Order: sequence, then C-alpha cells, then structure tokens
Amino acid sequence: MVKVRYVERPTLSTVEKIFFIDFVYGLKTTIRNFFRKTITTIYPKEKLVPPKRFRGTHAHRAKDGNEPPSFVVLAKFMEIHDYESRCVACYMCQQACPMPTLFKIEAEQLPNGKKRVTTFDMNLLNCLYCGLCVDACPVDCIIMTDEFENAGERRNQCVIHKDDMTERGISFDRRRGNEPDRIWIDDKAREKLWGQIEWT
Ligand code: SF4
Ligand code: SF4
Repeated sequence: MVKVRYVERPTLSTVEKIFFIDFVYGLKTTIRNFFRKTITTIYPKEKLVPPKRFRGTHAHRAKDGNEPPSFVVLAKFMEIHDYESRCVACYMCQQACPMPTLFKIEAEQLPNGKKRVTTFDMNLLNCLYCGLCVDACPVDCIIMTDEFENAGERRNQCVIHKDDMTERGISFDRRRGNEPDRIWIDDKAREKLWGQIEWT
C-alpha cells in the first residue's frame, strides 16, 4: 500500500509577505553565482579543444611504422600498404560493441592468399561512444579522436567509411600524437575550469 504524506504549505508572516523574504533569499544565490567565473562557453563561437583522450569521432590508424608487435605478426597475412588503414578485419571491435550492427566490416581473399579489408563502415547514429571497440582492437587500429561535430542533415552523413577514418587517424596523430595520453588537456586548463580537485 502506498503511503501518501501531505506537507503543509508554510504560512508566511506579514513581514515575509511584505518584504518577499524568500524571494530575497533566492536572489542571494543568483547574485553570488553572477560574480563567479563562468565555466560554460558560447558554442559554436567559442570552442574548447578537447583533451587527447576525448571520445569523439572514430578513426583508423594507418600502417606507419609505429604498429604494435601484434600487427607485425598479423600483417604477414594481410595486403596492407603504407599509410593505409592497419585494420586486419578481426571483428574484435564489432564483438565488443554493445550495438554490433552499427559496423559493416568486409574483407576479401586475394589470389596471393592474403586478405584485404574492402569495407569498414560505422553508423555513428547507433554509437554510444563508450570506447569498448577501441579497447578491443588488437592492433591499435580503431581510435576515438577529438572531433565531435558530427551533426548532419541526412542519416547517411552519420555513416563513416574506412578511407575517411584513416585520413582522420593520420591527421589526429599528426596534430596530437606527441601529447601525453591524458583525460585533461593539462592541469592548468583543468584548474581554470574546475578549480582544485582533491583526489581521494
Ligand atoms: S564506441 Fe561503443 S558503441 Fe560506439 S562503436 Fe565503439 S563499442 Fe560500439
Ligand atoms: S578490432 Fe581493429 S583490426 Fe579488428 S576489425 Fe576492428 S578495427 Fe579492424
């Protein structure tokens, strides 16, 4: 049985009624915050640069000589040229994804016995931006970048393809590859926005 509790509306004294005491109390909070530092930005006029580990639009890292040892082993079975996507079509990203149907990954076998990725599409309309696909990739191919302006007028504009993803990955590594891998841009930027944070 649901118990309903009635709360009596407080009766205001004559002074409270005349001088709007509650209103003044509310205004006190407004005025206090009015003089505080603004932490919001006027988007899109002002844009913050997201930290390197921001979970934005996906990209593919290219075969550029910085691959992990796992890629060196798998690459023997793949037809991948320099500065092409280093995807080996293992489907681990799709397996890890809570919405696996957003991926369309296809590969073909060439006459020389090697495999080549022909399609790698992602429908970002279904993406949760959770990053599980990134963690699952054994060759450090799929990454998430600092790009976040994905709005489009048509649904198919939200489907990204292998070649665009590779270009995005190359651009991201050129722009931000040397930055430390961190959640915040730097401590000063973080403190400016949020003040001192005590980690417990
Ligand atoms: S970020 Fe999450 S939801 Fe989006 S593709 Fe990767 S695993 Fe799937
Ligand atoms: S996990 Fe990496 S290598 Fe495997 S299909 Fe996905 S992007 Fe390609």
